[in-house]
Amino acid sequence: MLEKMDEKLDINEVIEEFEALTRDAERVQRETLRKILEENGETEYLQKWGLNGRTDTMSFKACVPLVSHKDLEPYIQRIVDGDASPILTGKQITCISLSSGTTQGMPKFVPFNDELTESTMQIFKTSFAFRNREFPIGNGKALNFIYSSKQFKTKGGLAAGTATTNVYRSSEYKKTMKAMQTPCCSPDEVIFGPDFHQSLYCHLLCGLIYWDEVEVISSAFAHSIIQAFRTFELVWEELCTDIHDGVLASQVTVPSVRTAMLKLLKPNPELASMIHKKCMGLSNWYGLIPALFPNVKYIYGIMTGSMEPYLKKLGHYAGKIPLLSADYGSSEGWIGANVNPNLPPELATFAVLPNIGYFEFIPLRDNGQGPKLNKDESLFLSVEPDPVGLTEVKVGVEYEILVTNFAGLYRYRLGDVVKVMGFHNSTPELHFVCRRNLLLNINIDKNTERDLQLAVEAAAKLLAEEKLEVVDFTSWVDMSTEPGHYVIFWEVSGEASEEVLKQCCNCLDGSFVDVGYVSSRKVTTIGALELRVVKRGTFHKIIDHYVGLGGAVSQFKTPRCVGASNSRVLQILCNNVAKSYFSTAFG
Ligand code: AMP
Repeated sequence: MLEKMDEKLDINEVIEEFEALTRDAERVQRETLRKILEENGETEYLQKWGLNGRTDTMSFKACVPLVSHKDLEPYIQRIVDGDASPILTGKQITCISLSSGTTQGMPKFVPFNDELTESTMQIFKTSFAFRNREFPIGNGKALNFIYSSKQFKTKGGLAAGTATTNVYRSSEYKKTMKAMQTPCCSPDEVIFGPDFHQSLYCHLLCGLIYWDEVEVISSAFAHSIIQAFRTFELVWEELCTDIHDGVLASQVTVPSVRTAMLKLLKPNPELASMIHKKCMGLSNWYGLIPALFPNVKYIYGIMTGSMEPYLKKLGHYAGKIPLLSADYGSSEGWIGANVNPNLPPELATFAVLPNIGYFEFIPLRDNGQGPKLNKDESLFLSVEPDPVGLTEVKVGVEYEILVTNFAGLYRYRLGDVVKVMGFHNSTPELHFVCRRNLLLNINIDKNTERDLQLAVEAAAKLLAEEKLEVVDFTSWVDMSTEPGHYVIFWEVSGEASEEVLKQCCNCLDGSFVDVGYVSSRKVTTIGALELRVVKRGTFHKIIDHYVGLGGAVSQFKTPRCVGASNSRVLQILCNNVAKSYFSTAFG
């Protein structure tokens, strides 16, 4: 398939290839593991576990232990520092990805290689083929809110950047985008610009210049689309002036970005006045996207997991334009493609591609329909993990996912919880549930990212009555008080009354229905929940902080729980508190 990338993608061929792979998922998994172990059998890591060249599933499971990133750090660090011996992979690793780190505090280093680029293209093409069958696009352009991270060389001379940056820089990416009929509106200088505020402004400008050609609006994670249109609300008049006069705003200072933009920007008073008129005609920016880009067929990006809280706002900008959720993967590698584009984003599932890695699943909890788990195996308490294979998972059961891939990860705990919703042929369709380690926990309480999200959604309904919204949120367990208590940080879109914020605070406290939390609150072994409202722009400062660490806006996910590992974020939040309230719900 890769050889034909200059041509338009043959979607029937891609679908047929996917159908064949998934019909035979068990065999493909065995083959994939065999290939991985053959290619890497001589590595220090696999030698250490005594595989002795064996490539079968049983020996692999018997010899190689489950690991987390921490266990692999010493090996990865040696690669980063320039040790070229076969440590984790037979072929030398020449590129390192930085995970966004927004889920776990600090960015992590993970090996990156051509196989990961290839599987990324396979995932992109697969979901595109299914998407294009339902929502065909013509020969237009994509307004892609994508950004590169800072690229740097490690001490050992390896190129390092976020995984998305490594992908965007690859020639395969451009060819694939072209084959998928979605070349980007913005020039490379904008995507790879060093200042994301300037890049964002220029992305918007490029989109407006090509307003009638834009057929897709996308980003890696949906957050970047919201961020772009929230910015549009603030700078639209400036954008109109630039288009009217054909002169780029002086705030865009990076010379390469200016030069590239000036090639596109010509005075166009008619376009400027049309945009102006459209913006003035909107009520509270509802339907902004179709108003600006009348030929848009859909909006595309990851909308599941920590992106769900932004869906309401995205729907507001989108009006009647469909929101299609993108695929499931991580810096460590891709996992599944969304081959059911018709499902609403909240219900999106990901069909695992059985040839891009070897996948195992640790059962966590069931819904009563799966195999009976013993009590200790209920969520997050799986004592002796006993993983099952890709085709052995059961519908309705939640699992933690383990990845073995071509880039040197073996039985690696990704840290995500997924639920099996069904099967596509013999490969499972997964729903993303949450990060496993994002827990609010003081004593016997356990609340996940999902529980927090539901509580915030419930409380935000009270704000909505005042025509206000939660722009972004996070949480912290404050143990400096006796007893400890939950702190929820909110950035709100305007001035909410004291009365409503007090009600929101009570509602948040009452919405954590976990038995451990409720009983601890009753006997006051957990103190009253605190709602801290932060000043506007605080969450932008958090993005800036991550970008400064080498992260990329494209992969940014607001950390939903802050703690010791991201103390700087906590400091930013605490320094920007405007108001604070304690719940009286249990008092
Ligand atoms: P990173 O590699 O740090 O940018 O983040 C990878 C993580 O993002 C994954 O482990 C998931 O927790 C999350 N993620 C990636 N794709 C999705 C998706 N489609 N839905 C929900 N969460 C996702």
